[in-house]
Amino acid sequence: MILQQITVLGATGSIGVSTLDVVARHPERYSVFALSGNTKVSVLAEQCRKHRPRYAVVMDDDTAVHLRGLLATLDTPIEVLVGTDALCAVSSDSEVDIVMAAIVGAAGLMPTLAAVNANKKVLLANKESLVMAGHLFMQALKSSSAVLLPIDSEHNAIFQCLPQNKHDLSAIGVSKLLLSASGGPFRGWSADQMKNVTPEQACAHPNWSMGNKISVDSATLMNKGLELIEACWLFDMPADQVEIVVHPQSIIHSLVQYIDGSVIAQLGNPDMRTPIAHALAWPERIDSGVKDLDLFDVSLLEFERPNFADFPCLELACESARIGLDAPAVLNAANEIAVQAFLDRRIGFTQIADVVKESLSNAIFSEPRSLIAVQESDTKARSFAAAYVSRIES
Ligand code: NAD
Ligand code: MG
Repeated sequence: MILQQITVLGATGSIGVSTLDVVARHPERYSVFALSGNTKVSVLAEQCRKHRPRYAVVMDDDTAVHLRGLLATLDTPIEVLVGTDALCAVSSDSEVDIVMAAIVGAAGLMPTLAAVNANKKVLLANKESLVMAGHLFMQALKSSSAVLLPIDSEHNAIFQCLPQNKHDLSAIGVSKLLLSASGGPFRGWSADQMKNVTPEQACAHPNWSMGNKISVDSATLMNKGLELIEACWLFDMPADQVEIVVHPQSIIHSLVQYIDGSVIAQLGNPDMRTPIAHALAWPERIDSGVKDLDLFDVSLLEFERPNFADFPCLELACESARIGLDAPAVLNAANEIAVQAFLDRRIGFTQIADVVKESLSNAIFSEPRSLIAVQESDTKARSFAAAYVSRIES
């Protein structure tokens, strides 16, 4: 078996840790080329000790000095690099076969694109990069020989429910994509009941264990909105052919409806190691460490319509998908600022939607023709959102 070299961007996060868990189960298949992390330097040092990458990348000089100190006693040297250019370098190095894009937020865009442009097998967890720059991202993909595999459990499920190598879904009789949503920790709550919820409550997801940003996004349902935009780009489907289905058990990870009445679903226990293992080995299958699904244990699968009225972030995301242009980039940037402000206890939970709404109302949308234009929309929306947060801060 040929050993494949993997770079894990965002190795210290929830997806990064799950990726390394799967990788460690298959030493005959995968060898770690590079790991990156931002703040959890001792976790990154421990991962370096275990996986012995050639490079470790961090985002600032102080962290690099700290990490070098922690790695000083290792017999095999690991080179510690710093910054976005280094992330791009370890994503595009000619020795790399697979890149796991698991940095959270807009910071993931440049290194993920670098991996696409360098024709890698790209495992995409960083949905924000598609939301921000979907058109440019998909263009880059088309003009490369990169293979893009979705890690988001819903998109990975849809990918598994489609025939291989078929790109025009209407030509193969797909009528709708049905995107599963757990409903998050506040399913069934009114907006009024959610006014005073804490970051701890918002981050306590009933089915999935994830990083803080995506946990808050799951609680506001912004995550499902971002995923709708992600699905439109990945599968070249119009937004009105993607339907959100609330399914509280998180056992069916999404479904594809065909014109003959067939609906094909992918099921499994809610553990990200399943989509990670699927994408790592695709088109083969490998063990992920996830326990078998016991349908008798699950017994009940329920479905509901999403509640747009009490979860305005979902409506805002759908609206920005309809507007197109750079509206999703504005939505994403404002949301990142608002979620951080909520996590820092500067604004309330329901004010996240207010910040995003105001930022969208303030923006004049234009076609993002270049990455620079995308970055400009992102920066502008962030500074508006940050100023708005300061204004409403109580
Ligand atoms: P996380 O917060 O647990 O980890 C984020 C990783 O990115 C960490 O390694 C962190 O050090 C790094 N990072 C953060 N800011 C950075 C910056 N400015 N520059 C460089 N690196 C930075 O997040 P997560 O839950 O693992 O999610 C990662 C991505 O995967 C997100 O885009 C999320 O939407 C997506 N995703 C996650 C899950 C999940 O189950 N956790 C499921 C589907 C999709
Ligand atoms: Mg998801």
